[in-house]
Amino acid sequence: GPSGEPYYHVDGELVPASRATVRVDDRGFRYGDAAFETLRAYGGTTFEWDAHAARLEATCDALELTHGLSRADLLSRIDEALSANDLADAYVRLSITRGVQPGKLTPDPDVEPTVVVYVGSLPRGGLEGTPVWDGPAALETVETRRIPNDAVPAAAKTHNYLNGILARQELEGGDEALLRDEEGYVAEGATSNVFFVEDGVLYTPTIDGPVLPGITRRLVLECADDAGIPVEEGRYRPERLRNADSVFLTNTTWELRPVGSMDGVTLEEDGLMRDDDPTDDDRIFETLSRMYDERVEERCY
Ligand code: PMP
Repeated sequence: GPSGEPYYHVDGELVPASRATVRVDDRGFRYGDAAFETLRAYGGTTFEWDAHAARLEATCDALELTHGLSRADLLSRIDEALSANDLADAYVRLSITRGVQPGKLTPDPDVEPTVVVYVGSLPRGGLEGTPVWDGPAALETVETRRIPNDAVPAAAKTHNYLNGILARQELEGGDEALLRDEEGYVAEGATSNVFFVEDGVLYTPTIDGPVLPGITRRLVLECADDAGIPVEEGRYRPERLRNADSVFLTNTTWELRPVGSMDGVTLEEDGLMRDDDPTDDDRIFETLSRMYDERVEERCY
């Protein structure tokens, strides 16, 4: 903006950050009654827009939040926010709340949604750039359990992030919390999906459990498929990760982030490349990171 202040998109208008406000009786504020997506733009193009738009629609379906806005309308608001701030490489947050409604919990089916697009500069990471993370993650298993799907479906990406916040608050020196489901199987990180590699096989918790179907997760599984890396989606105890050849996390912001330690124990550091076989445990993280980066390159530039 002219005064150096960023512009955000609120209810169809670009407004300076200091005036980008939501009413106190908005259900997004009162109850976390809102759907959202975190996205990245590379070179001015919103990466994997269709996948994010589809997940947003699934979230709105789960909440029975009928907002009446088209994918094209939402994308044009993102594009306008990027242009107004002269941003090409950016972090984007798109929220749709159930809007301002009389003070009762039961939602009114007539919705005037509050739509917010928040953007911020985020340089491209990948193998050529600088990743947004400071280094390998220190993953810590916490006592806070992932909310079961029959309470709040994990596939719905809503403003209710207390589960992850409580998990992060439990950390003692680590920087990502590992949440288990109620039976003790690994679900996901507070804001990330989890993968591990053992004997050339890539493992990740199934989204049948309380696991957000990450867009990055999906893409990494597609890359693994293309590279001929065998994949298994299942239910795993934290011990499997602790004894794995390598562990990594995924989300839109981090892309692929290696895990350096788990529960305070440094994971076996055997990052030596033995040969060019992409199914070598040492190579799998690197192969998948490169393939992810190639997709960013192909689809955004
Ligand atoms: N799980 C949770 C709980 C998350 O908040 C996120 C970040 N959106 C992820 C997983 C990763 O999802 P994505 O790859 O779509 O960013």
